[in-house]
Amino acid sequence: MKLDALTLMAVTVFVTFIVGVLFLVSWNQARRTRALGVLGLAHLVGALASALLCVRGLVPDWLSIGLANALMLAAYGLIWGGARAFEGRRLPVRAIAAGPLAWAAACAVPAFYAAIEARIALASGVAGLYCLLAAGEIWRGRAEPLASRYPTAFLLASEAVLYWVRIPATFVAPPPPTGTPLASPWIAILCFGALLYTVAVAFLFMALAKERLEREQRLVAETDPLTGVANRRSLAAHAARLLAARPAVLLLFDLDHFKRINDTWGHAAGDAVLVGFCAAAQAVLPRQAVFGRLGGEEFACLLPGATQAEADALAETMRRAIAAMRPDLLPGLAVTVSVGLAAGGRDFEALLSRADRALYRAKALGRNRVVWAGAALRAAA
Ligand code: GH3
Ligand code: MG
Ligand code: MG
Repeated sequence: MKLDALTLMAVTVFVTFIVGVLFLVSWNQARRTRALGVLGLAHLVGALASALLCVRGLVPDWLSIGLANALMLAAYGLIWGGARAFEGRRLPVRAIAAGPLAWAAACAVPAFYAAIEARIALASGVAGLYCLLAAGEIWRGRAEPLASRYPTAFLLASEAVLYWVRIPATFVAPPPPTGTPLASPWIAILCFGALLYTVAVAFLFMALAKERLEREQRLVAETDPLTGVANRRSLAAHAARLLAARPAVLLLFDLDHFKRINDTWGHAAGDAVLVGFCAAAQAVLPRQAVFGRLGGEEFACLLPGATQAEADALAETMRRAIAAMRPDLLPGLAVTVSVGLAAGGRDFEALLSRADRALYRAKALGRNRVVWAGAALRAAA
């Protein structure tokens, strides 16, 4: 198979242009995702650079060498900018401009401009650097788990490596000094690689944007908007999965006389108490605990693998922490919580209803206390 550089280059121009337009169309539909706009611009600039490289020999060299490479470096800089924008960071306009400007300054030196190896070394060095910086940005954001994150970082890093490998390779096997450089097998290989990278990077960035959107929607669907903790549906799903794997203790919390708090201090104060309760729970509960709001002023916590003594101590710690809670703005407001506990069995709903009966008893016994489901205590004995 013979790869014709000019044909490949023409295909690269069209593909890069279309990818740029697709990025801009996606950005137009989701303006919040600034990265899509920046990447769209990067690909349009890249398409223009490839087009200028294509017409080498037909237009003055300062256009097809000088300007084309400056634009190519700007395109790679913008890809780095797009990666930063994706991570919610500011666009490094000066650092993006630095690459093309360094190239332009070097081209003003006749000895540099005349030496093709020097030109390749500088352009490849800077392009590789931008690719590596982009890979670094995507890698840095790994606390947000997205399926395409590692493939994107790997792809960009490998593109950087290929650019840098090209530098010593140019000195080992220099391009022909005369004739059209498009005839060089190097150019065909580079074009082919660039084309594949363009398509793969575009695909992965689109996938990243989609995955982030899906993750955000899933988090919204699973989260209680007031307190930010898991809602009943996600708590139940998580609890069912956990219970299938190992036994657990369920703690059911219900704030005492909460209606009175609302009536006396107002609904906003009631809301603040609910938020404060969750903050206290998150400070006290262990990492493996699954905590969530069942609704109103009722919360539940599943403790996988906990002994009854551990669960009892934790419930007591929570009860005391809530009784000691004094909101800064409402120092006179006192809150207490009743806790029902149940252990044993693998069915979340059954565990919940037993904990609920224990909670009911805690209320009947005067509130602000911890009560175990009788069946669970017998099972533990
Ligand atoms: P008990 O000690 O028996 O649990 O009494 P209680 O007043 O806590 O229980 P009750 O079920 O009578 O009242 C619960 C109140 O919680 C009624 C409802 O208006 C209030 N509530 C439910 N959701 C919210 C909320 O999101 N914010 C606020 N501020 N109040 C809420
Ligand atoms: Mg209640
Ligand atoms: Mg209550």
